[in-house]
Amino acid sequence: MGLTRDFFIYLSQNKALNSGAKRWGLKMGAQSVVAGTNIKEMVESVKALNAHGISATIDNLGEFVFQKEEALEAKEQILAVIKAIHENNLDAHISLKPTQLGLDIEYTFCVDNLREIVALAHEYNIFINFDMEDYGHLKPSFDIIDELSVDYDNIGTVIQAYFYESEENIKRYKDYRLRIVKGAYKEPENLAYQDKREIDQNYIRLIEYHLLNGKFTSIATHDHQVINHVKAFAKKHQIPKDKYEFQMLYGFRKDLQLELAKEGFNFCTYVPFGKDWYGYFMRRLAERPQNLNLVFKQVFNKRTNTLLGIGAGAFIAGRVSKKN
Ligand SMILES: Cc1cc2nc3c(=O)[nH]c(=O)nc-3n(C[C@H](O)[C@H](O)[C@H](O)COP(=O)(O)OP(=O)(O)OC[C@H]3O[C@@H](n4cnc5c(N)ncnc54)[C@H](O)[C@@H]3O)c2cc1C
Repeated sequence: MGLTRDFFIYLSQNKALNSGAKRWGLKMGAQSVVAGTNIKEMVESVKALNAHGISATIDNLGEFVFQKEEALEAKEQILAVIKAIHENNLDAHISLKPTQLGLDIEYTFCVDNLREIVALAHEYNIFINFDMEDYGHLKPSFDIIDELSVDYDNIGTVIQAYFYESEENIKRYKDYRLRIVKGAYKEPENLAYQDKREIDQNYIRLIEYHLLNGKFTSIATHDHQVINHVKAFAKKHQIPKDKYEFQMLYGFRKDLQLELAKEGFNFCTYVPFGKDWYGYFMRRLAERPQNLNLVFKQVFNKRTNTLLGIGAGAFIAGRVSKKN
């Protein structure tokens, strides 16, 4: 795990920097990968994707919420997004994170918020994807899915290939629509593969399992080798195109997104938007430091320098004190 990755993961979780960034609007090149800070801007972005035959999964950005008011505000915002999808007849569904709806505050409070969201989406026939976060939130997130599945069938979730236990989880959730990813958080060796080759191998195993299983599979990756493998695998096993889709993040590999849609594959872009863009953006930099080009290509103002400077100082101080 490189220093750069650690540094950006540290920045993504830094509360002071998160709340500072909220006040400043999209900065540091974030506008290339975040589809606006409000619903109106997001709707325009989704319409543009839909015009190219690409559907969207919309994420009202926000995570690691510790105040009830903040979680309630997020719930209202997501309800408004569901209405906007319906009113604008968008080809889109919702992605959400349980911690944004209060999972770290109180389990039942979070379930109540999510129930309201899932119920409204059900009324409009809109699918809700439960994004998966770090390991500490895995089990309670699955518990919520189990609980809400008793009443609703418009729910699906994510399987992260870096966890050893994902093979077990994909079998348990084999009847669900699943998004399969490599995994974005920093997890310890006793829980997760650390080696890229092992993660990639498990990723392919899980995708193949769910494709053969016949339930809808979202293959969420920017990795063209995985995409090519899936195309060949689906052809060989005669898996119909309406049983799977490819997903990528907004602003990433745009040419490949369009190419796959043009080739007739279902393609869905993950569209993050909102004031709370900072943690999301830093995690993207952690995954692929080359994305820093996005940052430096933009106007690199004084405030941005200060933000990264404070982060770097605190990060280094943390490392030194850990060593001591
Ligand atoms: C739609 C979507 C939803 C996600 N949801 C979750 C979630 O709920 N929980 C979670 O933990 N994680 C989630 N992730 C993140 C995911 O787990 C990975 O961390 C992230 O996608 C990076 O891995 P990768 O498969 O894209 O390829 P990587 O392993 O990062 O890259 C593999 C190869 O692909 C090529 N490549 C990658 N990116 C680019 C690029 N921008 N331009 C050119 N070539 C590139 C390079 O050749 C690279 O070596 C999601 C990802 C996507 C796309």
